[in-house]
Formats: sequence, structure tokens, C-alpha cells
Amino acid sequence: PAAASDTDTIAAIVTGSAQGAVSIIRVSGKAAVPIAQQVFTPQSAAATRRRRAAAAQCTAADERAAWQPESHKVYYGSALDAEGAVLDEVLLLAMLAPRSYTSEDVVELHTHGGGVSAARVLQRCLEAGARLAQPGEFTLRAFLNGRLDLAQAESVAQLIDARTVAAADSALAGLAGGVGQIVQAMRTECLDLLVEMDVRIDFDEDLPPLDVPALVQRIQALSQQLAAALDTARQGQLLRSGLQVALVGRPNVGKSSLLNALSGTERAIVTAIAGTTRDIVEAGVVIGGVPITLLDTAGMRESSDMVEKIGVERSVAAARQADMVMLVVDAAAGWGPEDAEIAQQMFTSSSSGPAAWSSDWSSSSSDEEASSGSTSSGSKEHANGSGGGKRGAPALLVLNKVDLAQHAEQQQQQNGSSLQQSAHRCAVQQFGVPAAVANQFAAVVSTSAATREGLEALQQAVLRLAGAPQLAPGGVSWAVNERQGEALIRAKEALQRVQSSISDELPVDFWTIDLRAAVLALGEVSGEDVTEEVLDSIFSRFCIGK
Ligand code: GDP
Ligand code: ZN
Repeated sequence: PAAASDTDTIAAIVTGSAQGAVSIIRVSGKAAVPIAQQVFTPQSAAATRRRRAAAAQCTAADERAAWQPESHKVYYGSALDAEGAVLDEVLLLAMLAPRSYTSEDVVELHTHGGGVSAARVLQRCLEAGARLAQPGEFTLRAFLNGRLDLAQAESVAQLIDARTVAAADSALAGLAGGVGQIVQAMRTECLDLLVEMDVRIDFDEDLPPLDVPALVQRIQALSQQLAAALDTARQGQLLRSGLQVALVGRPNVGKSSLLNALSGTERAIVTAIAGTTRDIVEAGVVIGGVPITLLDTAGMRESSDMVEKIGVERSVAAARQADMVMLVVDAAAGWGPEDAEIAQQMFTSSSSGPAAWSSDWSSSSSDEEASSGSTSSGSKEHANGSGGGKRGAPALLVLNKVDLAQHAEQQQQQNGSSLQQSAHRCAVQQFGVPAAVANQFAAVVSTSAATREGLEALQQAVLRLAGAPQLAPGGVSWAVNERQGEALIRAKEALQRVQSSISDELPVDFWTIDLRAAVLALGEVSGEDVTEEVLDSIFSRFCIGK
């Protein structure tokens, strides 16, 4: 792609395909202005042309070529076909190099409507010498021309795809240069270390000996920075992909009511007759910036009713695929055999597959600490229960209808134990949940869908179990994406190998091999050391026109 950007000029409709009042065609490259001169006639020039044509002084084509757009100025006029017939009344905006998104000459034509006019004007630009842009090609040029580093370019795609305000804010923070700058600084530090070592290999005798403890300290500092950057990965993943949370439980415990209370809609039908939620109801909510899909499943229980049976099967399947499962029980009724049955199904079925989010890069990203819930004051009280087995989706026990239940939770929290421990104990002592069952849940929360008591705590528990770090006080910050996370993990592992080479007192050559690997891995993030294949895979995921 690097060579292509020297030669050809690209064009695409950059606005959405849906109906709109205006579409924008963007043209970028050396021929952007000559193409604009063929396709567009400013109104003022059109008037002049008519006068001169009347006086037969020159041809229309001459007049069009003579028109030169000024940078960052908007012109009103007509887009014309090859014969000079008007295709649309348009606005033209020229942004001349280097003051444009791509750093090349860029011309934008704003046409009417969503479809026909834009397509005709684009077609005309292609006839006039432009080539249809590939997905992400404008941003690729911005990167190749040094306008954006690679991490910033990826933030552009994330901003376009953002589903929540928090996700958009995070992408904006990335676009401002967060990830790229930090990684570039780390890469420079690695290069400095590398130079110091390389010099020793070649001219050992002439130089003072290496200050090994200082070296190790610098490598450790780098590793810490890497770990901090990697800690943002989970948040970024949550902001981008969101979370599927299944509500399960026997009929009439308040699943649909909870879904409605959390989403603030009347989406699920709530009635006092057991088993009314026959199918799966989805509701989208945003908790802490994370887009969450709540799945309200049919009451899970043995049933001879065909309709309900299908519902039950689907609810079990839905729960299996969810990133998190909430077992809702009726706190007023207490723990019963039906609840026990469902709990058993949950923990036997969910252990079969790893939860979608516990992929290797995110779990290894933050060593032991962050992945096991260090966000909650660093205690590991719930490490024993993570749903159906170690790699299963986390499970939450929700004691609903606490407004109807007599409980004395407040007194329980005073004896120095953490909130979560006391919630577990409360479930066992007040509501009769067997201790062995309670311990399988990563968290226990008491709620009332009727009075909204405990809903805030429920939301916090969901975020905590999802591994979302607490948002910084200043709001959402940048987060590394999956590709960047993988490269940073490689860099971190390379630095670990350097450290062990040093402590094993291997020759300096061995240190430099791994240090060089770290430099390369870091360069992949900011874009200094990136292969064409990687670029292709990144930019092909963009939409056309960006
Ligand atoms: P589902 O079958 O599990 O979806 O249960 P529903 O959401 O349909 O609720 C069953 C009944 O319990 C309805 O009459 C609700 O109004 C009632 N209900 C649900 N949650 C609560 C709650 O927290 N407190 C009280 N008092 N009633 C509730
Ligand atoms: Zn329901």
C-alpha cells in the first residue's frame, strides 16, 4: 500500500448507506484537485462561463480547468457529467496537503440524499481518474503519511464502532495518542538499553562495566508499565464487545421484573402466574459504560407443557452461551428443591466450555491479581466460586424479593468480614442456601425488583465479576485492544526472558536477542515495526470510506 499512495487517487462515499439528507464523497490523492476540476463547477464560474460562452470566447472545459479551489474553503456549485449535464447541486470542500485527514490533497463533495446522487457523482469521480477506495484506505494513508500512529488509526475504527458513550470516550482517548505514545516511549527505552548492551558486545574492554542492577531496575520498570497498559485490556474488551448476562431461575422469582428494573423498560411480560416468560427476552442496558445484553429465560423446570419445555431448553442453551449467569431465587420463599435443581444444572453445564471472555490474552494480561477480582479492595474472597468451574462463566446468586423477606443483613457486616463474605453467609443463614452451593457463586446479592433495593449493588457485582476495572476518576481512559494486547504480552515475556538471562549470568548476546524481540513487539503496536500483512488485517476491518 505504501507505493500505491504515491500514485493513485482514491474515492469513496464516506457517509452511511442509510437514508440521509446529505452524502459525502471523499477524494484523496495527487489527482484530487484535477478530478474536482472535471467533476465540479462553482456557481460563480458557471455564471462567468455562460457569459463567455455567449461571447464564444472559450470552451466550458477550459473554464473548469482554470478554477482552483482554495484549501479549507467551501464552494457551492454543480457536479457535472462528462457532457456537462448537471448531476446534482453540491458543496465542495477542498483540504489541500498536508492539512487533511490523509495528509494528501483531499476534496469532498456533499451531495443530496443517501443514494442516487452520491453514486452518480462517485461514478463520475472514478471516470475522471480516481480509484474506489478499499476499506480503511483513507486511514491507512493517514498512517503511512505519519498523520496518525497505528494505535490512533485503530482508535478511529473503534470510535466508528462504539456502541456506548463510554466506548466512544475510550476510543477518543486512544485517538488522542494514549496507547501509541506510551508504547513508543517504552520502545525508545528498550532501544536505549539495547544500544548500551550492543556497545558492550563490540568494545567491551574500552568501556566501564555494565551497571547490571541499574539495568535490571530499568527492565522491571518497563515490565510494570507493560502490565499497567495490559490492565486496560479487559475494560477495552468489555466496552467493545459488551457482555451477555443470562437470568435463570424457577418461574415467578422475579427474573422478568429484574430485567425490567435494570433496563427501565416494560419489555418482558410480568405476571403473577408462574411460567409466563415463555421465550427468551433480550434487553440492552449500559452498566458502567459496558453494553450488556440481559437474557430473560423461561422458568427452568421440568415441564410436560410443550411450549414451556421448548422455552426451558432454550433458556438452558442461552445460559450456557452467556458470559455470566444470574440465578434468581425468591428470598421470601427461601431456597427450595427447584432452585437446587437449577443450580446443579448450571454448574454442570457451564463447566463444559470456557467463558467467552476468559481468552488467553486477557487472563494472562494481568498476572494473578487483576483477573481474580482485585478491583474489589484486593480481597480474594470469591476466588473459590467462579460459576461452573475455573474457566466457566461467573455465576451470581440473586436473592430477589428481599422486600418481602425478613433478613438482618446489616448486623452481619460488622464483624470485620468483607461485604461479599457476609452476603454469602447471609444466603446460607437467612435463606437456607446450602453452604456448598452458595460457595459456587462468585457473588451473592439481595435485591428487590419492586423497591429497587440492591439494584446498584447488583450492577456493581456484574462489573466486578466481568473483570471491569473501576473507572478512573477522570472518566474513561484509553484501553489496549486485542491485537495490541497480544503484542504487549510478547514484549513483556521477552523482557522476562532478558531478566532471567541476566540472573542466570548468560552472555550479553543472549540478553540482546530478547530485548530486540521486545523492541519489535512494541513497534507493532505503534506501527514502527509492522508488516504489510498486519496492516492489511487491521485496515480491512474498517468500513469503506474511512
Ligand atoms: P419470573 O417468572 O421469574 O420472570 O417472575 P416475574 O418477574 O414475572 O415476577 C413474578 C411476580 O413476582 C410478579 O407478580 C412480580 O410483580 C413479583 N415480583 C417480582 N420481583 C419482586 C420483588 O422484588 N418484590 C416483590 N414484592 N414482588 C416481586
Ligand atoms: Zn419472567
